[in-house]
Amino acid sequence: MADMIYRELGRTGLNVSIVGFGASPLGAEFGRIDPAEGTRAVHCAIDHGINYFDVAPYYGRTLAETRLGEALAGYRHKVILATKVARYDLDLETGFDYSAKRVTASVDESLERLQTDYIDVIQIHDIEFGQKEQIVNETLPALHKLKESGKVRFVGITNYGLRMLKEVVEEAEVETILSYCRYNLMDTSLDEVLTPVAKAKGIGLINASPLHMRVLTDKGAPDWHPAPRRVLEVGQKVARYCRSQGVDIADLAMQFALQYEGVATSLVGMSKVRHVEMNLKSVGVAPDPELLANVLAMIEPVANVVWQEGRPENYDPGAVEKNS
Ligand code: NAD
Repeated sequence: MADMIYRELGRTGLNVSIVGFGASPLGAEFGRIDPAEGTRAVHCAIDHGINYFDVAPYYGRTLAETRLGEALAGYRHKVILATKVARYDLDLETGFDYSAKRVTASVDESLERLQTDYIDVIQIHDIEFGQKEQIVNETLPALHKLKESGKVRFVGITNYGLRMLKEVVEEAEVETILSYCRYNLMDTSLDEVLTPVAKAKGIGLINASPLHMRVLTDKGAPDWHPAPRRVLEVGQKVARYCRSQGVDIADLAMQFALQYEGVATSLVGMSKVRHVEMNLKSVGVAPDPELLANVLAMIEPVANVVWQEGRPENYDPGAVEKNS
């Protein structure tokens, strides 16, 4: 296993491992898990140099934060901890609250569940379900205010849609941006839309879901996956092709994401030691050029297909209906 590689997260001064630990599976977002194995996965990751951990109150409706907090007891000083505010429940009508009052209280609740007294990166979770005016004029200022108390160190935003992320960072002060499913074998539009603006402004860019939320695995996507059917079908086809070549599609997908220097870290969701070990093996390994070219050619008909998320006014241009 190669040594971990670290990159600077924008101008935060934080040096983050290029493999980041996505903790949503600890909240059973991809199915039930063994919590003891989840804790072992967290410890294995830290022992091998993974220092960036991402979670949210939404994952497992607080379960992921609680489990991560338990797993990090005694390890907190070794990690950079990122969590979120504003998304809380499954219902798309009532599950969000971007108000200053709620997000301020939310940070205190997260601190308690995570068993810590500071959060390194606090992020507004999925801004596309809110209104840009409120995000810029109320939610972000409330989070910046929390820096004064020392409860949070840096402030960021997260989203699927790239256009809204770009618009918000052009208007407001933001130190990190996280987007998901936008830089991997299926979709690389992050590189065109967001990377230039993040670089120009010195904002730390975080790439989540390098496995396209499990499309790029042998197991395939979970039932709730929002991608159009044709994307999921190509994912299965590519996984079969890789298998026929003696390669696990997840390895190729991780290698592809990790070699991209436009982002500081790629967050992969993990709750098993086996997956941590597999993903660590891709650090510093370039994808096989011929295999990669064949895989990208198979993906080409569905490359960069994006789906609609959030309020209609916040959709990315050209986004198609979910599960269409
Ligand atoms: P992902 O693409 O990382 O896929 C995770 C799934 O793949 C899990 O089911 C996991 O068990 C499985 N897996 C992991 N490694 C594997 C391997 N080597 N082989 C086979 N299967 C493997 O998707 P994700 O978990 O949604 O994204 C990663 C993290 O990014 C999340 O956990 C979360 O922390 C963050 N994220 C944030 C947002 C947001 O803020 N809006 C959205 C999506 C993801």
